[in-house]
Formats: sequence, structure tokens, C-alpha cells
Amino acid sequence: MGLLGMDSTWGLAIWLALIIVGIYLLVRWHAGSFGYRCRKCGCEFHLSVLKDFITPHGLGNGGWKFLKCPKCRRWSRATVLQRTKEDS
Ligand SMILES: [Zn+2]
Repeated sequence: MGLLGMDSTWGLAIWLALIIVGIYLLVRWHAGSFGYRCRKCGCEFHLSVLKDFITPHGLGNGGWKFLKCPKCRRWSRATVLQRTKEDS
């Protein structure tokens, strides 16, 4: 009986680990696949995985993310740039 209880605890832990790894891979892919352009100065930049994960974003106007620009240091809804094509 004790063993069974231990198994379900492990099962839950493995489940949680899989979910966390899944989210991490998704966010890492997202951080690597998308860039952002500041609407104030036009500077294009990329985010670290953590920043990509914690910053708020929305879907209006082809996608935006509320970010502080590394160049002009102003907060704005940065335009989302997809990087599947060659940079033009
Ligand atoms: Zn800027």
C-alpha cells in the first residue's frame, strides 16, 4: 500500500516535470523564433527565454509585447517579428 502511494507521488512529480520542460521548450523556441521592434525608435532586438516568458503580450496588430527597448530605454508595445524567413 505504501509503495502505491509513493508511485502516485512520483507520477505527479514526473507529470509536473514534463509540463515544466514542455513550457520551457515552447518558450525557448518562441524566444529563438521571434524578434521585436521598438515602435519608438525602430530598433530590433531579441529577448532571453526568461524575459520572453514573463513579459505581457497581445495579439492585436499582428502581435505585440510590452517591452523596454534596449536602445531608447522606453516602454512600448513592441511589434512582433517572425524570424522564419531570412532577415530582409
Ligand atoms: Zn527604442
